[in-house]
Amino acid sequence: MPGGGGVTDLSARVDALLAQCDPATTAPQEFLRARFDAGLARVDYPVGRGGLGLDPVLQETVDRALSAAGAPGNDPDNNVIGLGMAAPTLLAFGTPEQLDRWLRPLWTGEELWCQLFSEPGAGSDLAGLATSAVRDGDAPDADWVVNGQKVWTTLAHQARWALLVARTDPTVPKHRGLTYFVVDMQAPGIEIRPLRQITGETEFNEVFLTDVRVPDAYRIGAVGAGWAVTQGTLMNERVQYTSGPAPRGSGPIGCVVEAWRAHPEQRTAGLQTRLLELWVDAEVARLAAARLGQQIAAGQPGPEGSAAKLEYARLNQAISSLELDLLGDDGLRYADYTTRMPVMEPEETKEPGWRYLRSRANSIEGGTSEILRNIVAERVLGLPAEPRADKNTAWKDLPR
Ligand SMILES: Cc1cc2nc3c(=O)[nH]c(=O)nc-3n(C[C@H](O)[C@H](O)[C@H](O)COP(=O)(O)OP(=O)(O)OC[C@H]3O[C@@H](n4cnc5c(N)ncnc54)[C@H](O)[C@@H]3O)c2cc1C
Repeated sequence: MPGGGGVTDLSARVDALLAQCDPATTAPQEFLRARFDAGLARVDYPVGRGGLGLDPVLQETVDRALSAAGAPGNDPDNNVIGLGMAAPTLLAFGTPEQLDRWLRPLWTGEELWCQLFSEPGAGSDLAGLATSAVRDGDAPDADWVVNGQKVWTTLAHQARWALLVARTDPTVPKHRGLTYFVVDMQAPGIEIRPLRQITGETEFNEVFLTDVRVPDAYRIGAVGAGWAVTQGTLMNERVQYTSGPAPRGSGPIGCVVEAWRAHPEQRTAGLQTRLLELWVDAEVARLAAARLGQQIAAGQPGPEGSAAKLEYARLNQAISSLELDLLGDDGLRYADYTTRMPVMEPEETKEPGWRYLRSRANSIEGGTSEILRNIVAERVLGLPAEPRADKNTAWKDLPR
């Protein structure tokens, strides 16, 4: 095991970190930085990059020991795009300089990230996007000038950095003319407008980019190779919904079971059957997620993640519907419908009405269920591909 040694060595490293930074007297941020430097941020990250190149299953041992010692967590709910999508993308495609700049404050939560992919005319057909990035001059390391509009940008209002995919060559077919960048969300020319969701929150935004300058040093991967990098991000996004280690009966299904116990007066045979079926489905999904987690650990997020995300959306919507049916009128009461910036919290801590409304987005965000069915059909089941008439046409000649 490169750099890290075995489990004993890992325990020794945890002990050494706790001896060096007593969580009782060390500021949380300082502790998290020291934890990253000790290779205990994510044990599967490379040595020198917050990890030890170890099997990710060992992470739980570290988390448990540090939490028992009163150490602060890195609040992943708040930095879901940074940890779930930006970090794996940077690790796979970033230069050493880029990793030095971005990985540590990303992991400690000092810098939040967002994802500037979707556009009003390019969601499922992401490769058709129109936001342009044009080099300012002929020098190979000249800045890029970005113009366009993005939409549904989760956390844009809080993010310091964004993952951006932009068109750098409109004269070639759509997948080939894209390049991937990191953008400073504080750069001049970026305007963020909140969008209100069905839950009342403004979790996502429209983002307008007008002559935004992006240094070439912020380019991820080669010019024109943005689609491959984007695919890496999207695969990590899909598994993000499903691959976390969850205890049996936890999450939304746990909330319904709790409601079932608390409201014996609402029970019917029909609701009981639905609960039992969904409990079994949730357990199957949990075990499948554990398997997927192992695949990711082996560096293969794979198309199976699409099947898991598809099922997650179906299940979450069915579970939140059952919860409302079980709670009757009480379940529909929604305490706060003021427009507000979201505080990203685990779903279990929210109200049933919020869970129901928020679950409607599950079959859209991170790839719609229809698109995921296409992926499963083509890449898992090997069924004939959807006709793609625009595959060999220059993007500039496509009808829009
Ligand atoms: C809560 C939430 C958060 C989001 N956060 C972000 C974010 O942070 N960053 C970001 O970039 N985007 C984000 N998105 C956007 C999301 O990725 C897109 O909404 C999604 O990809 C769908 O694109 P669209 O909305 O343009 O719908 P469209 O692509 O226009 O699709 C409309 C309908 O047509 C169906 N459809 C389209 N093409 C096909 C096809 N070939 N076969 C079968 N059916 C098809 C779709 O499945 C859908 O039902 C978020 C969305 C939500 C709901």
